Amino acid sequence: MPAGVYLHIPFCKSRCSYCDFATDVWRSGDAVERYVSALCAEVLSHELGVRRKSLHAPDSGLQTPDSIYFGGGTPSLLTPPQVEKILNALTSVFSVANDAEVTMEMNPATVTPETLAAYRELGINRASFGVQTFNDRDLKLLARGHNADDARNTFKMLRDAGFENISFDLIAGLPGQTLEDWSRNLEEAIAMQPEHISLYLLEIHEGTPLADQIRTERRPLPDDELAAEMYEVMLDRLAAAGYEQYEISNFSKPGFASRHNTKYWLLEPVYGFGVSAHSFDGRERYANERDTAKYVSTIENGESPENYREKINAASEFVFLGLRLERGIDLAEYRKRFGSDLVEMYNDDIQRSAEAGLVSLSAESLRLTRKGMLYSNEVFEVFI
Ligand code: SF4
Repeated sequence: MPAGVYLHIPFCKSRCSYCDFATDVWRSGDAVERYVSALCAEVLSHELGVRRKSLHAPDSGLQTPDSIYFGGGTPSLLTPPQVEKILNALTSVFSVANDAEVTMEMNPATVTPETLAAYRELGINRASFGVQTFNDRDLKLLARGHNADDARNTFKMLRDAGFENISFDLIAGLPGQTLEDWSRNLEEAIAMQPEHISLYLLEIHEGTPLADQIRTERRPLPDDELAAEMYEVMLDRLAAAGYEQYEISNFSKPGFASRHNTKYWLLEPVYGFGVSAHSFDGRERYANERDTAKYVSTIENGESPENYREKINAASEFVFLGLRLERGIDLAEYRKRFGSDLVEMYNDDIQRSAEAGLVSLSAESLRLTRKGMLYSNEVFEVFI
């Protein structure tokens, strides 16, 4: 089973008001260069055996990854030579598949036609584009650091540079966002015809400026029922526009489902490098240090940045991750992997969920219904 490789680039031009990711404000010069060198050293350390304990080779799939994902943060702030240095480190250690899906998260107004052409030249063949909304008022609320025209212009630049696989990220359920605002967003996104669309419902994280604004009543609390309505409108509109839903929050034109993200839902190995990067090697999940300066100094001292590790309950994760997929869980695959019959084990719960219209069971699969996708957390709880 080929693995995926995730590379975390923690820098952003500024911090969005809702963000609780491990990010640092981007500064040109030494800090980014040192980070890139540390990241490359971490990748190369696999070859040197420093973290060999993390790998259950040869069945880990890491030797022949078929997806590479630059996530962040804002990886599109890296210069092409920095991207090249990271890719060279990867290909010097691993035999990356010739047809690998190579994704880079990009934010509007962070790239130029020249950098995009250079990324394409280096083999980046998929852009995950942080549009979020086409409404300037909402972009300001989110402190996104770009406006809607920046998103439109950058999308055009991506197409002009030859990107034929572009994914839009959109956020629904913003404070003060109406159903009409959301529908306008959707219509504009559909008119631009990206190959893939991911929907995120806004989550309010304690300690972020947005959480503070809501707590002090400077912004209204997002309305959960309205967010559910937005989700339903999205299902209908995207289906009518020819997008297939392949996961609760992900939609694509036929043949454009994300290979990398699907690995997470199928519980396949994905190895993460960089600050706060998470890995799953088929048996254990582990993660790196969350602080960028500490990550860099740890690597520079020749030590492992790993600071967390757990053995997972693979059967349980296979079920609730697999249920996120539209095709659901392959019951034969479950039997093959875990040696037991899922339907027999959870018969009462599955019947109850089916009677409530949340899941649909066939001889081959167990899947969420449309209603089940809206109340997915209630279904997942059964299997945890
Ligand atoms: S661009 Fe993404 S990672 Fe960066 S601050 Fe905004 S939400 Fe966070």
